Amino acid sequence: ATPVAILVGTGRGAQRGILVTGPEAIETAGGVDVVVLDKTGTVTQGRMAVEGVVVAGGVSERDALRTAAALEGASAHPIARAVVEAAGGEPDAVEDFRDHAGRGVTGVVGGRRAFAGSPAFAADQSTRLPDALAEAVDDAVATVVVVGWAEDADAPLEARAVLLVADAVRSDSAAAIARLRALGLEPVLLTGDAEPIARRVADAVGIDRVVAGTDPEGKLAEIARLRADGHRVAMVGDGVNDAAALAAADLGIAMGGGADAALHASDVTLVRASLDAAADAVRLSRRTMSIIR
Ligand code: ADP
Ligand code: MG
Repeated sequence: ATPVAILVGTGRGAQRGILVTGPEAIETAGGVDVVVLDKTGTVTQGRMAVEGVVVAGGVSERDALRTAAALEGASAHPIARAVVEAAGGEPDAVEDFRDHAGRGVTGVVGGRRAFAGSPAFAADQSTRLPDALAEAVDDAVATVVVVGWAEDADAPLEARAVLLVADAVRSDSAAAIARLRALGLEPVLLTGDAEPIARRVADAVGIDRVVAGTDPEGKLAEIARLRADGHRVAMVGDGVNDAAALAAADLGIAMGGGADAALHASDVTLVRASLDAAADAVRLSRRTMSIIR
């Protein structure tokens, strides 16, 4: 039988916008000592905006944006929304669209094979980055999206532009992370984004440990590694790319407004998109367990 205190605990949680899918999650939450935080959409708002375009080889900014927007029009990623917005108006049609979670997107736009994604993804997809683009990637203090396409059906994919996409840290993230620390949880920032951007966000919110450049399997592997080291791990995430890691964590917490896959993989769903609610969830479960013991 479920102890009454747990039922009371889950009831209190619901009042505060913390939805617990299984009461056993509350028991687990008491013992967590590490909290792994996804960056984009979790620590940051995930409300991104294109703030710069760098092109190579005589490509126009407009062409680069339109091609990227055609691909991103089929994606639900926060980056995708920003690119579509920056291109203005309705995106062109895309065929053979594929969403490579945590890496980028591919498809055929106007008869040409095309891609948009992280520098690592671009390296897999295309020929070497032209110097102008490589420099833009190295100097970037924003998230970069490399855009490329093939001249015709037999030609290789070539990187032709870099979009600089900025995202703001949520205003309550730093305070919430301080609360999580005070509850005895060591925060770790886990992201598919590049190390320099991850560092900047980590510094802004008071996180020392950063694991960057991870695809969804890499995120899962990081959770498994921490657990194998004897930690009890909470993970907070919002994306399809976080689902496997959320399911593998001792306590998976999905941000409000996140992807359905993240919600289904989690033990706790926050109604609000706020890390403060994640700290509430941990504190509430500790209290509930102390009533039982
Ligand atoms: P996070 O782990 O911080 O939530 P994601 O795993 O969602 O970030 O994305 C990791 C990286 O993959 C992004 O920083 C971006 O470079 C690339 N990426 C993912 N999806 C897209 C997309 N739809 N368009 C362009 N780039 C993408
Ligand atoms: Mg995310």
